[in-house]
Amino acid sequence: MTVEPNTCPALVLNADFRPLSYFPLSLWPWQEAVKAVFLERVSIVSVYETEVHSPSLRMRLPSVISLKEYVPTKRTAAFTRFNVFLRDRFTCQYCGDPSPSHELTFDHVVPRSRGGRTVWENVVAACGPCNLRKGNRLPRDCGMAPRHEPYRPTTWQLQEHGRGFPPNFLHDSWRDFLYWDVELEPY
Ligand SMILES: [Zn+2]
Repeated sequence: MTVEPNTCPALVLNADFRPLSYFPLSLWPWQEAVKAVFLERVSIVSVYETEVHSPSLRMRLPSVISLKEYVPTKRTAAFTRFNVFLRDRFTCQYCGDPSPSHELTFDHVVPRSRGGRTVWENVVAACGPCNLRKGNRLPRDCGMAPRHEPYRPTTWQLQEHGRGFPPNFLHDSWRDFLYWDVELEPY
């Protein structure tokens, strides 16, 4: 069976064999991965069945590659829609309902009309009905306080949350690298 090369992205691992990031998962298109192999910037850890060839060369596409030089990961997390949802575990912070991301909204705990800012510490994930019910009121006026005080997460905290939401398109060869460094519970 031949698989279209365009469906064969490579999972990119840092030099310590951890994925560069969980969200977005660090994937490179096959062209970029092959180029990096020839520039000797990466090592091939695992390959697909799918081959590409030129007149002079045949090569199985890399499915997992690791950088030869370690890239330090940023400690501060980007303030993005996805990361806010990830911090709040895709759960409405008022009623506690887990929702798919397209049904979640942002809520300003202190409404913008009351001087609330759009910052980590004032924005939470909320389902549509809760967001509507809270409206422009302060938590103390409507008796709706977020279940978890919103905070600025570290990238490490987001990665911890991210492990609970694995992307649903994992190639088999990626699994080990996405899960091998999970902390073991002491018992
Ligand atoms: Zn809700």
